[in-house]
Amino acid sequence: MSIICVIGTGYVGLVTGTCLADLGNHVTCVDIVPEKIAGLQQGMLPIYEPGLEELVERNVHAGRLHFTTSYQEGLDNSEFIFIAVNTPTGNGQGRADMHYVESAARGIAQVLDHYAIIINKSTVPVGSGDIVKRLILSNLARPNIQFAVVSNPEFLREGSAVFDFQTPDRVVLGSSDAEAARKVATLYLPLRAPIMITDLYTAEMIKYASNAFLATKISFINEIAQICERLGADVKEVAEGMGFDKRIGRAFLDAGLGYGGSCFSKDVRALSHMAGEAGLHPQLLNAVMDINHDQRRLVVNKLISILGSLRGCTIGILGLAFKPNTDDMRDAPSVDIIRWVSSQGAHVRAYDPVALKTGRDALEREGIRMEHITFCEDAYAVADGADALVIVTEWNEFKALDKPQLHRLMHRPIVIDGRNIYEAEEMQRLGFTYRAMGRGTGPAPMVVAAGDDTSLPQHASVGENNSRHNGPGPLAAL
Ligand code: NAD
Repeated sequence: MSIICVIGTGYVGLVTGTCLADLGNHVTCVDIVPEKIAGLQQGMLPIYEPGLEELVERNVHAGRLHFTTSYQEGLDNSEFIFIAVNTPTGNGQGRADMHYVESAARGIAQVLDHYAIIINKSTVPVGSGDIVKRLILSNLARPNIQFAVVSNPEFLREGSAVFDFQTPDRVVLGSSDAEAARKVATLYLPLRAPIMITDLYTAEMIKYASNAFLATKISFINEIAQICERLGADVKEVAEGMGFDKRIGRAFLDAGLGYGGSCFSKDVRALSHMAGEAGLHPQLLNAVMDINHDQRRLVVNKLISILGSLRGCTIGILGLAFKPNTDDMRDAPSVDIIRWVSSQGAHVRAYDPVALKTGRDALEREGIRMEHITFCEDAYAVADGADALVIVTEWNEFKALDKPQLHRLMHRPIVIDGRNIYEAEEMQRLGFTYRAMGRGTGPAPMVVAAGDDTSLPQHASVGENNSRHNGPGPLAAL
């Protein structure tokens, strides 16, 4: 059992602190927002994350998890101090704003009275670990206190954060103090994940490179989707066909509205900025960002191409959160889409299973005029009288909607599926005007298990051209 302090009680800090407590450690979570801490002390979570509420309750009840606004109380006897504060985009050029990390470092320096290992979980520009070390050194209230700094980037995904923390693909630790890194590794041993120990700069870079690569996959498939749409291919099947290749993999090949959320946009921008400051011109990263930006616009273009003018139309928005299973609205495509649609004179009806409050707050913060928006209690209320529905977030409950009922409720049965959750054939059969992202309207793909040639359709026999576009079919191309 170790004594741990986690500074910052947001998505990463709260999940980290709670999961470390669940591994048997004694954890105190510190945040500067008193309402957040007061809520947590009463069992109210500031964020929605599946499974987290029960885990917090269990560990608080067991006396292993505490919440405070006091650094003094949080650091008391702590052997490990995690920094998990936000690092948003700080200026127009994309540089990461380090002032929350710096303020956490100063806060630590002012009360640290024993040796501790300071572990940075925030995503920070390469070299920040050294900055944190210098900041603490120069602000130590008790100058002879020893400490070590370790980088431990976090890879969890919102919506499955608890699962991701408990079953990580890898744990990355970077430090110039190998002994300190090894001590941090002991905290993760129960997770039985590969643990990589490297230098500080490399660990910090691994986080940016990982996020930039995932964002690149998303922009890549979105570019392919646009080409598919023009040429009559179906990007969903293309992604499936690509994904069978182990060198490629199926993950992050879902064409749609592009990436959003708290991390990808800011991290790709920050990496591009770092490269620029180092005298480089990161062409690929810049293209990734450009493609992502345009992707949201496509939905509005599709609406306009069907409806002509949006003036006076009612547009239903299904999904506000940037992705399912979270209430996080940071860089959510819904905000841009609602802004553009309402600026064209349309009225918006919107619903999200958990992000109605955070969604309303985010739209208000963005200065979007709320008199043009009605928030509804479910998807059917959104559809009632709507001229078109836009699927913005791929929540499971949207996949399971009663489509004939939607059709009956809508003024005009138009669906723009920004996440490719429906099948064109079914939607058209039900009488919808349906547009997806990069999808043709050919037959559904037939995947035949190895050795199972009895289920091969007649038209897919070897040597026969089974393409629906008169080009060489995949079998003929062999
Ligand atoms: P968040 O905004 O949800 O939480 C940050 C918390 O830190 C807030 O509660 C804030 O009040 C608190 N805070 C700010 N300054 C503080 C200070 N000086 N002392 C104490 N508390 C302070 O942010 P997040 O999404 O948890 O992200 C945290 C870091 O982790 C970021 O660098 C982010 O890039 C990275 N990260 C996030 C995710 C994710 O999915 N959210 C995944 C991996 C990495």
